[in-house]
Amino acid sequence: MQALGSHFPTRKFDVIVIGGGVFGLSCALTLADAGKSVAVVDRSKAWGEASAVNAGSLAVQNKLPALVPYTLWAWQTWQSLAQRLGTDLGLRRSGGYKIAMDDVEAERLHKIAAEQQAVGLITMRLSKSDLRTHASWISEDCVAATYCEDDGYASPTLVGPALRRSAEEAGVTLIEHAHVDTIQSGDRITVGTSRGEFQGDRLAITAGAWSGRIAAMVGVELPISLDVNMVSVTEPARPTIKKIVTHARGVLTLKQVANGSCLIGGGWQGIGTLDDFRKDISYDQIIHNLRLAIRVIPGLKSLNVVRSWAGYEGVTPDSLPYLGKLNGHDNIYCAACARGGFTMGPLLGQLLGELILTGTASKPIDLFDPGRFADAA
Ligand SMILES: Cc1cc2nc3c(=O)[nH]c(=O)nc-3n(C[C@H](O)[C@H](O)[C@H](O)COP(=O)(O)OP(=O)(O)OC[C@H]3O[C@@H](n4cnc5c(N)ncnc54)[C@H](O)[C@@H]3O)c2cc1C
Repeated sequence: MQALGSHFPTRKFDVIVIGGGVFGLSCALTLADAGKSVAVVDRSKAWGEASAVNAGSLAVQNKLPALVPYTLWAWQTWQSLAQRLGTDLGLRRSGGYKIAMDDVEAERLHKIAAEQQAVGLITMRLSKSDLRTHASWISEDCVAATYCEDDGYASPTLVGPALRRSAEEAGVTLIEHAHVDTIQSGDRITVGTSRGEFQGDRLAITAGAWSGRIAAMVGVELPISLDVNMVSVTEPARPTIKKIVTHARGVLTLKQVANGSCLIGGGWQGIGTLDDFRKDISYDQIIHNLRLAIRVIPGLKSLNVVRSWAGYEGVTPDSLPYLGKLNGHDNIYCAACARGGFTMGPLLGQLLGELILTGTASKPIDLFDPGRFADAA
């Protein structure tokens, strides 16, 4: 990849990818492996936004039913990616408990499990006493749980550098600290950045929460709202929590990673907007996240939280990702904004690469048409 400040030997590429997160780098790797010349343009350092700061959960049980098959396919992609990158990605198919703390939550838990089972997910119902037998570290206040072998996690801090390095080795040109300001569409696309202009035959928009702003540069409206998600990490502790834990109401994700630290998330909201670029912790909110974590796993009470942080996640009106060609453009594509985008990023990035290469993707993508809200606009 090109170092910052160098002259680029070429400014013309088969494909320009805007955004160097998990979607963009996975797409670029697929294209480069197929022999295309590819540039990934990023306003800051690639792997510097959501892909870098997420909680690393690869949980199927906390996905919408429509996304369950994609999450199961994504496990295959993750496994191939680990082989392709040839390094430890912290990938663990640990299995996971999704828990309920009262009868209303238990009803919700079982309803969601039934919907997920209808689309192929295998989960096991656990009673309160089953939980005591299988996971005595979970609080006696939990009244029910479902268990799924296909829940797990990976380490964003291990995945990012490995993915960047492999993209580099495959010939991808990484153009960092290059803010995209303008796009001229046509047979050949010109992307205007703070580091000059670059041209491509095709353009892939994989700019996460900013994808709507990039699409607007070519006259396409992509509705995206912003979540400012928070995550906390504890000091390392003796390995106890062997499985990932999620919550019937979607308000908790918890795992103990290789060094013994516990990562606590669950979509509690921090403070910031795309305009002010703030990604601040809301202490009012995070306290609820931590209290809930302790309520579910009382042993956490003795651990110090060493850091909390926040990051941007783009959300579509139906919480399904965008993946496909942009309306009215034959050579501009988008993949962005999956709920659980780290989980599905390698798969969806690869599918976008396939679509650009061959005109079709190896998995169905009609549900994700970026034009699906056009009539409502
Ligand atoms: C705190 C947090 C916790 C999360 N936890 C999980 C989890 O546990 N499991 C899970 O599956 N998902 C999780 N997610 C969601 C997941 O991280 C995202 O869905 C996923 O990383 C999105 O990847 P991306 O490549 O689309 O976007 P990003 O990683 O955000 O990459 C987009 C890139 O586009 C670049 N860009 C934007 N505008 C421009 C421009 N004008 N010019 C050039 N470049 C531009 C940005 O600099 C950025 O690098 C979490 C998200 C957050 C914020």
